[in-house]
Amino acid sequence: MESPLLPAEPMLWSGWGDPARAAELPAPVRDLLTELLGVRAPATPAATFGEVRLPPVALPPPVLAALAAVTGEEHVRADDDARIRHTRGKSTPDLLLMRAGDASDAPDAVVLPGSHEEVAEVLRLCAEHRVAVVPFGGGTSVVGGLTAARRHLHSGGFTGVVALDLGRLDRLRSVDPVSMTAVLEPGLRAPQAERLLAGHGLTLGHFPQSYEYATLGGFAAARSSGQASAGYGRFDDMVVGMTVATPRGTLEIGRAPRSAAGPDLRQVFLGSEGAFGVITSLRLRVHPAPAVRAYEGWRFENFAAGTAALRRLAQEGAQESALPTVLRLSDETETMVGLAKPTDLAAPGSDSGCLVVAGFEGAPGEVARRRELAAALLLEAGGVHLGPEPGEKWAQGRFSAPYLRDSLLAAGATVETLETACFWADLPRLYDAVRLALHGALGSPLVMCHISHVYATGASLYFTVVTAQTGDPLAQWAAAKRAAGEAIIGAGGTISHHHGVGRDHLEAYAAEIGDLGGEILRGIKERLDPAGILNPGVLIPMY
Ligand SMILES: Cc1cc2nc3c(=O)[nH]c(=O)nc-3n(C[C@H](O)[C@H](O)[C@H](O)COP(=O)(O)OP(=O)(O)OC[C@H]3O[C@@H](n4cnc5c(N)ncnc54)[C@H](O)[C@@H]3O)c2cc1C
Repeated sequence: MESPLLPAEPMLWSGWGDPARAAELPAPVRDLLTELLGVRAPATPAATFGEVRLPPVALPPPVLAALAAVTGEEHVRADDDARIRHTRGKSTPDLLLMRAGDASDAPDAVVLPGSHEEVAEVLRLCAEHRVAVVPFGGGTSVVGGLTAARRHLHSGGFTGVVALDLGRLDRLRSVDPVSMTAVLEPGLRAPQAERLLAGHGLTLGHFPQSYEYATLGGFAAARSSGQASAGYGRFDDMVVGMTVATPRGTLEIGRAPRSAAGPDLRQVFLGSEGAFGVITSLRLRVHPAPAVRAYEGWRFENFAAGTAALRRLAQEGAQESALPTVLRLSDETETMVGLAKPTDLAAPGSDSGCLVVAGFEGAPGEVARRRELAAALLLEAGGVHLGPEPGEKWAQGRFSAPYLRDSLLAAGATVETLETACFWADLPRLYDAVRLALHGALGSPLVMCHISHVYATGASLYFTVVTAQTGDPLAQWAAAKRAAGEAIIGAGGTISHHHGVGRDHLEAYAAEIGDLGGEILRGIKERLDPAGILNPGVLIPMY
């Protein structure tokens, strides 16, 4: 990106992003949705901010006072505004509940620590008073990762719940230009981090679709993967060190890029979703900011041909360092919807083939070399070069889709995404199984899919589903999600490639790791967090 977007504060409370960018669907698109999918405007309008129902604050005043003594009174907020804005995350079910005025999962208070020491002291206090703590980064979780269980299987209920908002931990602490690492604090939102690093001529290269609002701590805690993962890697690969505060003390992890000194403890905290500790600092690999960015489009006859081409790039191409920085393949439906003017959607039989977007970032000579190598391989695999326009168009609209979700929800369509990954050999079966499951659960939805993260041994599949809302859209999506989850596990995929486990994937994750895997997680949890206060209800099966 030329100039990283800086997020508007605060994010829309019942939807996505910058309130100024919210838009209504044009009438012809609404008509088309009615014609194609039977979408009708919802019977009840969305709740206004003033209509949101909040439970009373459960935390006793002495506990609030003790927390305020740690962080300063102005950094412990129990007002409606703070509580509503820290209720749940940004999945479609989360948005549907907020649009219905339901903030029953609101924390009792929002605590904003200003240092590692304050985080550690807040954890100590909360353990003493049995207060559940939900670490809160950008609040963009889409797997129920920010909804605390107020009761606990082992030891009963909590005195209350606090959201531990890490937004004040927002500094670039140091840059090591020799090792090409930087130490950054977890509450930095991605655009802020990019802006700070740009001052040193550096980039992280992490651009998920939630880029505008998500934080570095959230990326590490949920094992995020960005749109440029082919070039810069997944976020968990970027983490070379971290500091973690736990109720039992502090851990400093990662003193070398790789180590043979036993199992890698970084892996215990990457993907731990706030259940084992609070990440208070990250040492991350950085790259020189690219001098050149070139995006282009390729057309393949169908999804199978495009998949084969991506596999060759990820295997043979990667050996010659010819892998693009951004590499994504849309299936036939996603290609058609992406390419079509809204009015062309009425002709779903039209033959658009499948679009591959390949983006190259780096120094000019290096970009030219990789582009040439990749082009030779894509041509050999049957691709037709479409020039820069489809690539540039994708790059310009890459953060817009979440805004469209809000407009679709308001128009009466349910729209949600889900993702998985598997080995290349299993990919066609997994693709078919998930589509079949979604069609079985929803009747005739629009199901689109793309591959946007590739590895030598496999890839992820990312599905977007649009369907007419029923009278109970939450139950409607829950049934579809259950069916898709069963299909994913049945076809050999993982329940998540980059969204994480949260509460929504707990059952499928338990099936994926088995009884012994669950026991290991519970053992770690009990040792680090004996009172079980850290994000209860997420990640850990049977806890
Ligand atoms: C519209 C949209 C698009 C998205 N696109 C992508 C995408 O392209 N790629 C992708 O990977 N994900 C994507 N996501 C999912 C989400 O943005 C990621 O999971 C992201 O990593 C969450 O970051 P966050 O700062 O918002 O964390 P939060 O949502 O605030 O927290 C996520 C989890 O991490 C825990 N946590 C947060 N900070 C810390 C910390 N410092 N220490 C310990 N635990 C912590 C929380 O308790 C929670 O369990 C998308 C989400 C939305 C809504």
